[in-house]
Amino acid sequence: MSSVYPSTFWHQECTLCGACCTAPDIAALQKPLGVPCKHLDGRCQCAIYETRPQVCRHYTPDWVCGEVAPLPTLEWRVRRYLEIYGLEPASDEG
Ligand code: SF4
Ligand code: SF4
Repeated sequence: MSSVYPSTFWHQECTLCGACCTAPDIAALQKPLGVPCKHLDGRCQCAIYETRPQVCRHYTPDWVCGEVAPLPTLEWRVRRYLEIYGLEPASDEG
């Protein structure tokens, strides 16, 4: 009998798709909705990973990742992320 088993049958890995560092507004970073975090690098990795704020540390991958991460571009991923949460990106106008 194996002593190794998952704590849950459902598991989602972060694939560094960049959506959760771009789509939501993050007050701790003064990051507006739909705008990439200034610490997100060109490979969708966090440039301040070791010192990232608590709000980022507490974020865990969930079913939303499965919806957004497979999409081919960051723009599409962000759009889908915002759609799931019923959020609208800020208008460029005005
Ligand atoms: S949305 Fe999910 S898969 Fe994409 S970067 Fe965030 S945690 Fe990772
Ligand atoms: S600080 Fe890092 S983990 Fe947090 S939103 Fe910015 S890039 Fe993402």
